[in-house]
Amino acid sequence: MAENSKIEWTDHTFNPWEGCQKVGPGCDHCYAEKRNARFGGGSAINWGAGAPRRRTSATNWRKPRQWQADAARFLAEHGRRQRVFCASLADVFDNAVDPDWRSDLFELIDQTPDLDWLLLTKRIGNAATMLRADWERDAFPPNVWLGATIVNQAEADRDIPKLLAAPARVRFLSIEPLLGPVDLAEVSNTGTALDPECWGDCACDSLYGRDPGCRRNEGDGQLQRKIDWVIVGGESGPGARPMHPDWARGLRDQCTAAGVAFLFKQWGEWEVALDRERDDADWRADYTNDFGDRGKTKWLNLAGGCGFHGERFHVMRRVGKKEAGRALDGVTHDGVPA
Ligand code: SF4
Repeated sequence: MAENSKIEWTDHTFNPWEGCQKVGPGCDHCYAEKRNARFGGGSAINWGAGAPRRRTSATNWRKPRQWQADAARFLAEHGRRQRVFCASLADVFDNAVDPDWRSDLFELIDQTPDLDWLLLTKRIGNAATMLRADWERDAFPPNVWLGATIVNQAEADRDIPKLLAAPARVRFLSIEPLLGPVDLAEVSNTGTALDPECWGDCACDSLYGRDPGCRRNEGDGQLQRKIDWVIVGGESGPGARPMHPDWARGLRDQCTAAGVAFLFKQWGEWEVALDRERDDADWRADYTNDFGDRGKTKWLNLAGGCGFHGERFHVMRRVGKKEAGRALDGVTHDGVPA
């Protein structure tokens, strides 16, 4: 899928600057911080509160203009526009970044209208004000897709309403690493819609964007904002945590039922070695929990705990990202919004 990026859901990756600060459990094993330390002589000099962020070179900033110049060829070859994931080594809406850098980025986005810019953040609460500082709501550029990273239900409840409140043509979720069960239909978007005619007294959810009892839209599902795309993945790299297959299946099934594009990015480091209900093996004899096997197996139940008595108990085996692959129940999911 990708032309110049190893990330499955984008064609290019552009980092306007580097550096960040951890803000939640999804940041625990931040790849970008480790990379920053590797190039910083052992310490992550652009990470944490008060650490300077590093603007990337002028040469790097010219790359999106080259991709823009290549837009006609790309469209003819692939039948769609190029997608640019912005800031894999930073966060666009980081408070510690010089606001002038962000303005320069937004100007670049304006000047590359044939690229779809995917702004993915763990600070979605900052997006509405930081975006509007440069783009008035009515002039919001159609080539910006706005995404929030969440990792569990608590973050979904906290951040999805903020994503729905922010202006964007396409709104998406990156749920990676997925660390627990997430029910998107449980997240209400009532009161977050900027439709001035929304009465805010219904229960329109974030996935369907409607409530059959909503007096405003009479259940036709067209007025409320909703999520357009869901990306799900497990964790990779040192210290990666396993992902219960039912968490990923749950999101797949929710998206399928709601007609929302679903992309399963990867399992991460771990694969299912045994589903206790399905496989009915003598699991106690064959599997140990995080010891005796040099950390290569872990027990995992539906709630995320390691107790074998929990619901939907599985044994996960660390096999590496490549071997674990990206098929969910034998199917590759590469959904992207039209
Ligand atoms: S927000 Fe992203 S880049 Fe920043 S610390 Fe967290 S994982 Fe790393």
